[in-house]
Amino acid sequence: MNKLPQLYPVELTPPDIASYRDGGTGIDYVHRFDSGAPGPHVLVTALVHGNEICGAIALDWLFKQKFRPARGVLTLAFCNVVAFQHFDASAPGDSRYMDEDFNRVWSPERLNGKGATVEVRRARELVPVVEAADLLLDIHSMQHKTPALTISGPLEKGRRLAREIAFPALVVSDEGHAGGRRMRDYGPFGDPAKPQNALLVECGQHWEKMSEAVAKETLVRFLAHAGIADSAWVKRHLPKKKPAPQRLVEVTHAITIKTPEFRFAADYRGLEVIPKRGSVLGHDGTEPVTTPYDDCVLIMPSRRLQPGQTAVRLGRYVE
Ligand SMILES: [Zn+2]
Repeated sequence: MNKLPQLYPVELTPPDIASYRDGGTGIDYVHRFDSGAPGPHVLVTALVHGNEICGAIALDWLFKQKFRPARGVLTLAFCNVVAFQHFDASAPGDSRYMDEDFNRVWSPERLNGKGATVEVRRARELVPVVEAADLLLDIHSMQHKTPALTISGPLEKGRRLAREIAFPALVVSDEGHAGGRRMRDYGPFGDPAKPQNALLVECGQHWEKMSEAVAKETLVRFLAHAGIADSAWVKRHLPKKKPAPQRLVEVTHAITIKTPEFRFAADYRGLEVIPKRGSVLGHDGTEPVTTPYDDCVLIMPSRRLQPGQTAVRLGRYVE
């Protein structure tokens, strides 16, 4: 993996997850709790990216409380554990993945194809886990320090779920990446005719303390909304403060990098609103990349500027 200069301090301590290896499901780092009572099957995933620690902290927190669903089924999964095991606080950006991005391999072509990267092999192990879920919460964090946001996917059912969870305050509705399909868009989650539904939450900067609180609050709200958590437990763990009203950004363009010489015109961090259509955001080789309309919102500009990957997504506030 390419080395990136570190812009942000590591304020979080990665949890020791070694003891979660055998969850009794036959798949390493996957645990299942069945209440025996009717209710949805909820899957919560962490470490889809090995350097995104807040989700692992939230799951570790849930395990330590011995949380059990009051209804339905709860499955907890640490995904790219191999990458996480390579986490090094002195080079914390380097453990996002081993061979390739785990969150770009969730298409039938990749899962059933010939490739056998660390990430494809782990995804194949997790396919039955993902397919068994009615509701998925996938916990992530971001390269830059910007407010937390939920990625609802392109479908109305995803937007609806984001509104029902009502936290964090920003919802980004998007189609994903040309680089490959995400887990949150896999199979029935990406099918408007199917009831299964998924959210991906970006809890803040990868190593900022705040991301831990956002991950836990999202998790509590998600379990509460699914109806599988005991209401007294929910009450005990929900912050008293009401969440801020939500806004929704609809992503219209994903800028996919074409040349090895992509560069941004400024040090964008995300959620900047560029007032004028036609403003130059950067250049891909010699070709300028411009805003397609007024009041264009930049979503998660990347520092990993490699051909085939997404440099930034562009959207506008619709709510
Ligand atoms: Zn991520």
